[in-house]
Amino acid sequence: MSEDDRRVVVDGVSKLYDRDDGGVQALEDVEFAVDDGEFVCVVGPSGCGKTTLFRIIGGLESATSGQVRLSGAPVTEPSPDLGIVFQEYHLFPWRTVRGNVAFGLEQQAIDAEAREERVDAMLDLVGLEAFDEAYPTELSGGMKQRVGIARALAVDPEILLMDEPFGSVDAQTRSMLHEELLSVWEETGKTVLFVTHDVDEAVTLADRIVVMGAGPGHVQEIVDVDLDRPRDRTDGAFAENVEYVRGLISE
Ligand code: ADP
Ligand code: MG
Repeated sequence: MSEDDRRVVVDGVSKLYDRDDGGVQALEDVEFAVDDGEFVCVVGPSGCGKTTLFRIIGGLESATSGQVRLSGAPVTEPSPDLGIVFQEYHLFPWRTVRGNVAFGLEQQAIDAEAREERVDAMLDLVGLEAFDEAYPTELSGGMKQRVGIARALAVDPEILLMDEPFGSVDAQTRSMLHEELLSVWEETGKTVLFVTHDVDEAVTLADRIVVMGAGPGHVQEIVDVDLDRPRDRTDGAFAENVEYVRGLISE
């Protein structure tokens, strides 16, 4: 397979933030690739450049050198191939759940009936059918993030890009959202790129884990998670994977 057949290629990406105090080298020569349909987690300590990398892949920030390619095409701006789910929910407070999920579809030339059908299907996928007329302030954190996922998927992107999406929900809700996300992934065959600082979360979700180190942000190692799904956190092999990745991070 040639490099450009791969869904996402991060090719020698470096990022220097210019600042009055001299600047911050956030990323140095970050390199990895993701195949179609893969679930890849990027994990690393706070400040190692995960959000910076996420923003560069999403076309929201430019690299100082190197580039990101999606199916061979260099990223220069936000692409419709990419559905983005942020750490903070970024929902429109003046729109209902339905209105939020419909947002991306309204930018496209499809008729209202097809749009509503699509919104219904997405609400069904994330279990929010009964909340379609609710406003974001009426929802729990977990529900808001489900809306974020439904909105990102509504336009049928090839890739779902997520930055610590479940960071602000309690542990029980988070583990429900993990199950839901995995079932959406299995159902839709999307490529998922998921950023987290939580090693447990990465081992729960990923086919492969890109482990980053700080100072400046770089790829430390790429770890295959060779565990059957659904995964059992109480399993010895699960704990071994977690321990191995934690060891890499604290090196
Ligand atoms: P992470 O998401 O892994 O916590 P970030 O990508 O947010 O890491 O940050 C990486 C480094 O870049 C940090 O040192 C941070 O202070 C710096 N940084 C992030 N965003 C900016 C910015 N807009 N301007 C200047 N420095 C930034
Ligand atoms: Mg971050």
